[in-house]
Amino acid sequence: MTARILDGKMIANTIRQEVALKVAQFKEKFSKSPKLVAVLVGDDPASQVYVRNKEIACSKAGIESQVLRLECSTTTENLLEILEDLNADDTVHGILVQLPLPTHIDSRAVLDRIEPSKDVDAFSPENVGLMSQGRPRFLPCTPHGVMQLLDRCSIPICGKEVVVVGRSDIVGKPLVMMCLQKTGPAGHDNANATVTCCHSQTTDLGSITRRADVLLVAIGKPNWINAQMVKPGAVVIDIGINRLNDRLVGDVDFDSVSQVACAITPVPGGVGPLTIAMLLENTIRAAQQQQSQTQTSA
Ligand code: NDP
Repeated sequence: MTARILDGKMIANTIRQEVALKVAQFKEKFSKSPKLVAVLVGDDPASQVYVRNKEIACSKAGIESQVLRLECSTTTENLLEILEDLNADDTVHGILVQLPLPTHIDSRAVLDRIEPSKDVDAFSPENVGLMSQGRPRFLPCTPHGVMQLLDRCSIPICGKEVVVVGRSDIVGKPLVMMCLQKTGPAGHDNANATVTCCHSQTTDLGSITRRADVLLVAIGKPNWINAQMVKPGAVVIDIGINRLNDRLVGDVDFDSVSQVACAITPVPGGVGPLTIAMLLENTIRAAQQQQSQTQTSA
């Protein structure tokens, strides 16, 4: 079997066009622009690239964006004050703090300080709670991108055995939550899966991943999942992004797994482009929600 390649880049482009249309309608109706502010602390090269890519994507979608570049020596207190100002600024609809933060900063305290209605990464306890109850304000970008990819590639997960490998707060856990819901993020029932979550302490990982009809992998270990760990005919979504010998590779050994899976995402060009597309989607959604809140309270 040679797997169907799931083209995340193409789907992300479609979503970005949909967002651009919503942004144009918002601007015409309210004579203002949705605005995203990204806070970048220090000079981590990968973070600089991610933030630059977000700026470019915003610009293409018609979203105003600003990057606050702060010295590595910035303290937790400085950052909390900056976030308070952004929270209070009516012209700012979305705020994101680029991770990882330098180790001397209390990341949890910083993320908790972002006003939930502007928390377009959806990391705040309030937004995580709303998502887990199946009534999301925003969905975290990477897991939402995975759900959009499954949905738009017509891959149903209802009643299927889904195995998520990885339990981070930003990818693995929210994916588990989304697959478990009764209603999928696209508003219909592409959810309702039977879900198992694996992590570094899981015994005999392969015996569990081989049960998966849909295998979602986010562990940060290059080429970790091999063909022997995958059920023939499974759908495999590789969320990992790893640099190996100057090349980007996923957590799944693409060459061998694509011989047994029925569908697989490539790295690069799979889930990665969807993460930014969903950030844009959250930003226009934040602007719409804040606008209707203003009108209701006027
Ligand atoms: P984390 O390091 O926060 O979490 C990794 C998870 O994988 C942990 O739960 C860990 O278990 C688990 N794990 C590690 N090794 C194994 C193993 N051998 N077997 C089973 N589970 C294991 O990573 P993230 O979730 O932030 O990211 C995961 C990957 O996804 C990375 O490659 C990252 O670059 C990529 N990523 C891609 C994005 C995109 O846009 N496509 C966005 C975000 C991340 P434990 O909890 O026990 O430590």
